[in-house]
Amino acid sequence: MAINNAYLNSVYEDLAARYAEQSEFLEAVHEVLETLVPVVEADPRYEEQNIVGRIVEPERVIIFRVPWVDDNGKVQVNRGYRVQFNSAIGPYKGGLRFRENVNLSIIKFLGFEQIFKNALTTLPMGGGKGGSDFDPKGKSDAEVMRFCQSFMTELVKHIGPDTDVPAGDIGVGGREIGYMFGQYKRLTNTWTGVLTGKGLTYGGSLARTEATGFGLCYFANAQMKANGKSFQGKKVIISGSGNVAIYANQKATQLGGKVIAMSDSNGYIVDENGIDYKVIQVIKEQKRDRISTYLNYVPTAKYVQGCSGIWTVKADIALPCATQNEIDEASAQALVKNGVIGVFEGSNMPCTPEAIAVIKGNGLLYSPGKASNAGGVATSGLEMSQNSERLSWTFEEVDSKLQGIMESIYDSCAAAAEKYGMPGDIQAGANIAGFLKVADAMLAQGVCY
Ligand code: NDP
Repeated sequence: MAINNAYLNSVYEDLAARYAEQSEFLEAVHEVLETLVPVVEADPRYEEQNIVGRIVEPERVIIFRVPWVDDNGKVQVNRGYRVQFNSAIGPYKGGLRFRENVNLSIIKFLGFEQIFKNALTTLPMGGGKGGSDFDPKGKSDAEVMRFCQSFMTELVKHIGPDTDVPAGDIGVGGREIGYMFGQYKRLTNTWTGVLTGKGLTYGGSLARTEATGFGLCYFANAQMKANGKSFQGKKVIISGSGNVAIYANQKATQLGGKVIAMSDSNGYIVDENGIDYKVIQVIKEQKRDRISTYLNYVPTAKYVQGCSGIWTVKADIALPCATQNEIDEASAQALVKNGVIGVFEGSNMPCTPEAIAVIKGNGLLYSPGKASNAGGVATSGLEMSQNSERLSWTFEEVDSKLQGIMESIYDSCAAAAEKYGMPGDIQAGANIAGFLKVADAMLAQGVCY
């Protein structure tokens, strides 16, 4: 759909012509540009200096071969990516995703979102993202280690604590970060905070594991509070059962909610008595098993094959925490029909544009992932600070900083939405607040990069 401003529309049309095959990237750009109309109309410098045309083009894209040897002695080849999108406000920062469907479009959409998310945290971090079409699922620890070492053997040339600091994402948890950190250290003979999400014995931050899920619930709580609502007594659906989903469950439960459904890419479980996050920790973090095995622990629960049906489960709050475009228009309509009060995004871009229109059009509360899942990268920023200072903060210190950051992100999104004539529109507010910080830094730095 055309964007209601000639400059923004021409930036988008140029991009769409150049990268026609990058559908996820174009979807993410369109979503942001649509909300920037009042911003570029209020300040002509953004158009005069072509800030938007510059912000949609990554500063650098690195694509590389990742050869590794499997347990049968066979040589496998995957493709690695690092997109260094924008360094106006700090070193590139963003996760690495290992999943078979990873391609340049997905990494660019994630890197683009990351620019604004990182700006919202108020910490000095630019935007980047990377990954590979390698999927650790079904691989032995030794295979994952050999892959990670090979991946880092190339990535090492492009990252550094003041250049680019990767972290985890789908398929990259503590195990993968550990193997990559070990290889970085071996190759450079330096111990630096070059990756975040590290283990606690070697520079990791307490509460980083929990941060994205906890932060999501702090954000949702702030948004609900501003609208006279809360988690108390509410039934919650959480898609996914990975890092974000598990700790969203823990915090939503602590805040008085009851999590009754969770999923993985094969299917979903429903347990009306409430899903204990510790059982999911055992299944997913310790055993690396499927969510269907939840029935071995709680035989009264129900398992349904196929993951999109989770959005038809009757509940009050939806926390998508799995992957992009997991809520389409039909799923959004099911949420509305069931009387859901809010959809708060834990994953990146889980709602299609059509789904967002249904959610907002029916007056549900809605928070975009770039704001409500920013707790992970914010805590990564806190891990970088601790590494630089050679200090370790307590769990409570980090958690309380995280809560403060999430509440202030909510406040700045709400304030930006209000200022630009869209009160209550947290989606627009997030894009505008994030954009202004980066755009003003780019203006100040001139056309030098
Ligand atoms: P994990 O790999 O830990 O978990 C991903 C979970 O989602 C798994 O349970 C996976 O199931 C499930 N899943 C994947 N695809 C689908 C699908 N199509 N339908 C249903 N379930 C699916 O990843 P994270 O929890 O780290 O990341 C989840 C999301 O949150 C991603 O969008 C990520 O970009 C975003 N995010 C993560 C942050 C972090 O700190 N980790 C920070 C900010 C955002 P299976 O086991 O079958 O693969």
